[in-house]
Order: sequence, then structure tokens, then C-alpha cells
Amino acid sequence: MEVIQSFTIDHTCLNPGIYVSRIDKGFTTFDLRITAPNREPAVAPASMHSLEHLMATWFRNSSAKDDVVYVGPMGCMTGMYVIMTGNYTVEDMRSLTIECLEWVLKQKEVPATTPATCGNYLLHDLPMCQWESRRYLDRLRNDFHSEYTPLQVSLPDGKVFADA
Ligand SMILES: [Zn+2]
Repeated sequence: MEVIQSFTIDHTCLNPGIYVSRIDKGFTTFDLRITAPNREPAVAPASMHSLEHLMATWFRNSSAKDDVVYVGPMGCMTGMYVIMTGNYTVEDMRSLTIECLEWVLKQKEVPATTPATCGNYLLHDLPMCQWESRRYLDRLRNDFHSEYTPLQVSLPDGKVFADA
């Protein structure tokens, strides 16, 4: 088995920003990195869940809505994956995400938080979601990173991994 692409970047020096995680089958997976992995606290589950609802709602209503395939959190809780069709660059995604976060900061409630519309409708935290959004927005504007540092990883045998 080959090591999947997202495990071949060095997470110890990964900074908040927007990265191209992978391009395959006509899709680009963007790594919207919100916190510095292993150096800052990860986003709390309830905040990340609210951010997922809000970002998915915004992206699927945005000017890019026809190209949005998927919006969802990373298992490590340090960022969000956005999968797009079409030819989007990190700078395009930076502009879209800035617009998205500005909208998130104005919201008074999280969409689709009923037992019928969400699989864990009590796991939400809008104030902390907006705190994370404010900090990420500031970083996207003033301290932007978009270049991965490669890491050499060798696995002993055929373990199976899967990512987004
Ligand atoms: Zn939900």
C-alpha cells in the first residue's frame, strides 16, 4: 500500500491557512487549516460541528455552489475539507472562505439543528464557533500559509488508510 497523500506532509510545522490536499478524478480537495496541529488546541467538537453546518450552508449557496462537492471537518479537528470541481486555486478559496467567515460572524443561529435535520443536534456551540471563525479570518487576511512541507513516511507493511 502507498502512503496516502495527506499523511506525507509534515504536520509539525503546518500553519493555519489553505492548502491543496490532493487533486484527483477531477476533484480538488482543499485543506482549510484552522489551527496549528499539535501546537494549538484543536477546535472543540461542538464548535467544529456548528462551523460545518454554517460553512456547508454558505458554500452551497455561494457563487461557487455548482462546483462544491463536499464540506466537512477533519478527524483531527484542526481543519475543514472542501472538495471542489473546476479550476480553483488556493487564492480563489481564500477569497471564498473570507467571504464565508464574514457571513458566519453575522449569524445568530446555526442552521439545521433539529433532531430531524442533524445527527447530533445538541452538539453545537455558536459563540465558540464564531471565536474560531474570527481568529481564522484574521489569519487568512494577515498571516496566510499555503505551502506544505513534505514528510518522508514509510510504512512497514500493507496497512489500509482512507481519507476524504
Ligand atoms: Zn449536524
